[in-house]
Amino acid sequence: MTGRFAPSPTGPLHFGSLVTAVASYVDARSKGGCWLIRMEDLDAPRNVPGADTDILRTLKHFGFEWDGPVICQSTRLDAYREALDRLRRDGHVYPCSCTRTTTPPCTCKTGDRWRVRYPEGDFTVRRADGIYSYQLAVVVDDAFQQVTDVVRGADLLESTPRQIHLQKLLGLPTPRYRHVPLALNESGEKLSKQTLAPPLDLLCKQELLAEAFRFLSLPGSQREEIFPSL
Ligand code: GLU
Repeated sequence: MTGRFAPSPTGPLHFGSLVTAVASYVDARSKGGCWLIRMEDLDAPRNVPGADTDILRTLKHFGFEWDGPVICQSTRLDAYREALDRLRRDGHVYPCSCTRTTTPPCTCKTGDRWRVRYPEGDFTVRRADGIYSYQLAVVVDDAFQQVTDVVRGADLLESTPRQIHLQKLLGLPTPRYRHVPLALNESGEKLSKQTLAPPLDLLCKQELLAEAFRFLSLPGSQREEIFPSL
């Protein structure tokens, strides 16, 4: 089996990211599987310079060991273009109809924005600014990296059926999906850059890892087994 962690380089890792990373890492390692890292850097306007190297340094410091090279989505545009071409050829997507009068007027350049037909409500696979959507890129990359087991935060629960839909349209295998509860701050908000979640403190790695294991109701003995360097 192959698991993965797919951070977006929009800022430093926080406790919520650690929980997700631990959940997928423990799942993969306890089954003797591979664990990959993919840098989800497609949304260039949201990328923070240096965040990718900072994330990898932090993961290493916490004792994570990944298999194979780290793949960056920004290097995979040809693969996303091919997938979109296939969806287009098979008639599953349509371009945004910019001629429709909307308020405020639609500003996308005709032909840039593509939406896929989906029974629960069509969604975008390429944005008006030409950036491929998270949904499309993740599906293409999980298949390319032969990911069999996706373990990620419950905030992505609604993305999962959309991704399974795209896999079916593209003839790609569907991995097993599991979603872990979200770590919240004292106001009940999801930890994120927007809610000003503090970056992981490298000086407290043992405490933070122990806390992540407790949060996931994983036994401490498993922590010693899977993070032997601590
Ligand atoms: N890049 C996404 C995030 O940081 C995670 C994608 C995924 O696990 O499918 O929220």
